[in-house]
Amino acid sequence: MAQAPPVATLVSKIHSLAEAFHERQQRFLADLIAIRSYTGQEKLAVERTLHELRAIGCDEVGIDSAGNALGRIGRGKRTLLYDAHLDTNEVTDESEWPHPPLQPVIENGAMWGLGASDCKGGVAAIVYGAAILKALDLTGDFTVWVMGATLEEDAEGFALRSLVERDGVRPDAVLLAEATDLTLRRGQRGRCEIRVRTTGKAAHASQPHLGESALLKMLPVIAALDRMNSALPEHPVFGRGSQVVSLIEGPHTPNSVPSWCEVAVDRRMMPGETAESILAQIGAVVGQLGATARISDQPVTTHTGERLDGPSFFPGWYLEDGHPLIAAGLATCRQLWGVEPAVDVWRFSTDGTYSAGAAGIPTLGFGPEEERFVHAVDDQVDLEKLKKAAAFYALFPFVDSLKE
Ligand SMILES: [Zn+2]
Repeated sequence: MAQAPPVATLVSKIHSLAEAFHERQQRFLADLIAIRSYTGQEKLAVERTLHELRAIGCDEVGIDSAGNALGRIGRGKRTLLYDAHLDTNEVTDESEWPHPPLQPVIENGAMWGLGASDCKGGVAAIVYGAAILKALDLTGDFTVWVMGATLEEDAEGFALRSLVERDGVRPDAVLLAEATDLTLRRGQRGRCEIRVRTTGKAAHASQPHLGESALLKMLPVIAALDRMNSALPEHPVFGRGSQVVSLIEGPHTPNSVPSWCEVAVDRRMMPGETAESILAQIGAVVGQLGATARISDQPVTTHTGERLDGPSFFPGWYLEDGHPLIAAGLATCRQLWGVEPAVDVWRFSTDGTYSAGAAGIPTLGFGPEEERFVHAVDDQVDLEKLKKAAAFYALFPFVDSLKE
């Protein structure tokens, strides 16, 4: 192992290694796409990732207690976690797909297939970033963990929470290889599901005067929940929060006065809003109308059979101006390509809801995938961008110590 050479030498080595690894990187991505890995069913994709992490020479490879695939490079003081998820959303109608979703094809310089843009392209980017890092054979004062994450589509952040809180890997910074089109992402809105309930008194529907309808009690509650939209918290970047009554439930007894009624509220939150603040706001409004509010529970089972149920609460986050992690992301791009990318926010939710939103770990997004292909039937990732993203992940750990 040797000390890092001058930056220009390092950058040119990384470019040529990214090129040299490009074919293996594509093969790995094609293999991942060919494996069906819906949320909670990631076992084969995890095993394939572990195989690749061993092949590129990680210093340590294994799964954590929630079944995430993990590889480690280095044993320095500063710990970086590269996270990209292996689970994909589900195909609803295969006939709409221009190519069969589980049969990867290369067309117009892009690899097509289910999960290419969310987030298997990201997995291939971080794994090959680590491959380059390993091949450089340089000492650095850093540890890099590469994580092929699980459970992201249904319960973003739950698998990462498990790694940090149950397995004790607490990184100093997290990089997420979700879709950014080689630009940077510094935050996202949060979301949560609230259940609001009214109770009444059951009676036979032939004698309604003996009962008390929880459904009728819910009507003004629904209207009040909707009216709250005009006064929800605002953020200079994300705009105003929103909430939608998305579901209504009651007893399945059509010949009775309903004794209870429950609605689900989908709430989009600003960074800084907490479960307590949300419940206080909603509770104050619906409490006057005789209703109660709580955060829903999200049931989650890992592919290894562990239950990781938790509140359906996914806080937003926003990395402030001038944060060193943004500066490092910009410097990495400047060194590699001579340009600074845009720094934006995501419209969708990511594992950053846990790392940045709940645990307060600085988190930054950078990935080769493009948002327009995410959860779309023309799901694809550009291969040139895939190679570039690996170069980014190889150089990133060095930029702090680089003299520009
Ligand atoms: Zn994703």
